[in-house]
Amino acid sequence: MPIANSVLDLIGNTPIVRARNLDTGPCTIYLKLESQNPGGSIKDRIGLKMIEAAEARGDLKPGATIVEGTAGNTGLGLALVARQKGYKLVLVVPDKMSREKIFNLKAMGAQVVLTRSDVAKGHPDYYQDLAERIASETPGAYFINQFGNPDNPAAHEHGTGPEILAQMAEAGGVDAIVFGCGSSGTMTGLSRCFAEQSPGTELILADPVGSILTEYINEGTLSDKSASWMVEGIGEDFLPTISDFTRVKKAYAISDRESFLTARELLEKEGVLGGSSTGTLLAAALKYCREQTTPKNVLVLVPDTGNKYLSKMYNDYWMADNGFLERERHGDLRDLIG
Ligand code: PMP
Repeated sequence: MPIANSVLDLIGNTPIVRARNLDTGPCTIYLKLESQNPGGSIKDRIGLKMIEAAEARGDLKPGATIVEGTAGNTGLGLALVARQKGYKLVLVVPDKMSREKIFNLKAMGAQVVLTRSDVAKGHPDYYQDLAERIASETPGAYFINQFGNPDNPAAHEHGTGPEILAQMAEAGGVDAIVFGCGSSGTMTGLSRCFAEQSPGTELILADPVGSILTEYINEGTLSDKSASWMVEGIGEDFLPTISDFTRVKKAYAISDRESFLTARELLEKEGVLGGSSTGTLLAAALKYCREQTTPKNVLVLVPDTGNKYLSKMYNDYWMADNGFLERERHGDLRDLIG
């Protein structure tokens, strides 16, 4: 690997590792470690693309302010790129978000505006509506709007997708790819790339129980009722403007419990520390693999690193408190008093 000139040059070109110890039926699972991007997630790619495309169009002038509503990986990706390129970044964050996430964003140089978590879309304090308003009231500001920004799927159509196909040529190609859907940029972009360059690849969606997408994909009905889930970054209660589900073949609904236990199994068996959505994606991939009767190459994204989840799904006490693990009867004193 050549010496990079900037941390931004280290975004993308993430490694793929073959799973050796998981029970994958007749199939082989390949894990693409988006967790190895410098900001720790697949969202570095869209942070770079959405900013550079806005620069190229002249929508973003030197030293301007970038605004977005997010507490998640997109915020970290934008913070990484904005600071390197000398932009100010304002992130509107719902106040239920963990302190760690807010401190992380501040450390990366973002200005964090906290807003109410108890209001829905359309309310002036809703984090996305407030971000849009701040952008419109700040001279020269650029509102990123990842849920409606075509540069988000474009990052995956022209970056992630071709990269996967080039890497997987060595294994004889990709028969199926498993992803989750948050802003839907990954799914929409990969779908467009594969339609052009590998139309035989099956697109499989991994979705948290409670999200509306599994029913939408498998039965074609769009519910207006969603329930809550704990896995972070994926699942929907509405269809994002940029989403294109036309080529998605099948969806699997995965519970929080199965997601967390599968992420822990991945760490134990393969040494890969993924985030909570990684557990959902891998659980769906394992279900898909075990249903197959012929060998297939199945690519699974590892969208972010598990570092952010050490006090949650990687913590036995948190898992037991939430009913996801049996509490050990012997051993640590805290089991007796906890
Ligand atoms: N996993 C994690 C951890 C994420 O933060 C996201 C983005 N919200 C996704 C998966 C889904 O990516 P996308 O927004 O491209 O649908």
